[in-house]
Amino acid sequence: MSPRGWALLTLAGLTVALLVTVAVFVPWHRPPAPRADQLAALRDLPADQVARGREFRAALRPGGYAALAVGLLIAVALGLTPLGGRLVELVGRPFGGHWIAQAVLGGLAVVLVADLLTLPFSAWRQTVLTRYGLSTNSWSGWAVDLLKSYAVSAVIGAVALFGFYLVIRLAPRWWWALGAAGAALLVVLLSFVLPVLVEPVFNKFTPMEQGALRTELMSMAARDGVPVRDVLVADASRRTTAVNAYVSGLGPTRRVVVYDTLLREADPAEVTAVVAHELGHAKDSDVAVGTLTGALGVAAAVVALYLLGSWGLLLQLAGVDSIAHPRAFPLVIALVTVAGLVATPVQALVSRRVEARADAHALALTGDPAAFESMQRRLGTVNLGDPDPPRWEYLYSASHPSTVERMAAARAYAREARR
Ligand SMILES: [Zn+2]
Repeated sequence: MSPRGWALLTLAGLTVALLVTVAVFVPWHRPPAPRADQLAALRDLPADQVARGREFRAALRPGGYAALAVGLLIAVALGLTPLGGRLVELVGRPFGGHWIAQAVLGGLAVVLVADLLTLPFSAWRQTVLTRYGLSTNSWSGWAVDLLKSYAVSAVIGAVALFGFYLVIRLAPRWWWALGAAGAALLVVLLSFVLPVLVEPVFNKFTPMEQGALRTELMSMAARDGVPVRDVLVADASRRTTAVNAYVSGLGPTRRVVVYDTLLREADPAEVTAVVAHELGHAKDSDVAVGTLTGALGVAAAVVALYLLGSWGLLLQLAGVDSIAHPRAFPLVIALVTVAGLVATPVQALVSRRVEARADAHALALTGDPAAFESMQRRLGTVNLGDPDPPRWEYLYSASHPSTVERMAAARAYAREARR
């Protein structure tokens, strides 16, 4: 069989593995609470709070979608015309057109151009956050965060670009197989190292101070059978007033992190509800499953790229004769951008189901639906969320159930518990 035949077979195998993983590990059997219950929850929220949340979300919307559109336009302009290829060539020229310079510096330049052209939208978003009092960051703090994130992306990007084009040189016919395996490995590696190497670049993490709340959280984790070495507090207040918590890392790097803003804003029973939700993610290995689907997804993407790379029309548009050449990297970015836009609603749907399961876990573990509901209200109020966002936006990008869905879930749990 030819490499192309093997690639088709591999892509089919990866697609099946991805579908099976998603079918088995995503809790599809847990539909959202009935709409009537959601509407009842909505009526119980103060009208001015709902209005303010909607106003804020409406203020963010034009810039957000404009940034998406401009990002797509830039990716297409660079990738589906010879423009991007020329940029890669130009950046490599001072180095005699050496492949490493073209691959690494040229590749980073393409990404940087897209970042810089969408920068005004990020700045504009920051002005909205400041206007609504959600950002506590100064412009210099904002710029430092931006530079840090560029630096982190540049390091990870340089490693990925160098590795990718090295593999292509070493195995011109089979690079897609090695590339797919390498990309999958990189995803797994990042899941391990992001919490310990990258998150500290942006925030300081300190163990939660000793006291009744910490004792309660640790004993809840023990009761839940989820080994947690520590609960960490992130100094999120340096840039936001928003409250949040999350779980990241795998195995030895797994940790539960709560924002310092959450400890300041919420009462202990609400913090307990939030941490119980995060323990649900840990218990159901959501980070591990997310890593597995991510790894399968990028592997499939590399193989698909190889197969698409033999499509003459695309190569002709990009002015290159092979997808394997660094000058074709802008074309790769264009394809990845389009794929990302298409994948967004699917990822959001999967995420909402996983989040709903963590909510159910929190309710069962704490047995305190009242605290859960008041925590949801507080999340909505402090973070200026729309408790019941427009359907199309919810379907396209909501990573969590809406506030009214989560309130309705708590009420359904309370009804069941009373029986
Ligand atoms: Zn969650």
